[in-house]
Amino acid sequence: MLKLYCETCKADEEHRELSGERERGWVRSKTGKKYVHDYWMCANGDCRRVRYRWSSRSPRPVMMKMPDFD
Ligand SMILES: [Zn+2]
Repeated sequence: MLKLYCETCKADEEHRELSGERERGWVRSKTGKKYVHDYWMCANGDCRRVRYRWSSRSPRPVMMKMPDFD
């Protein structure tokens, strides 16, 4: 877990790494990137906003909310 700023929560919140191929595949499809290990997801409640590790801005203007695959 890593504390990062979340644009949805408007606060520093715990983020977790993507887990599993479904989550990584989803982010790949959204970003068009093959390497997505530097994307983290907000773990505050059901926020699930995905952000790039090194910038709080989304790679695209769309809001990247991770679907719940479980
Ligand atoms: Zn959040």
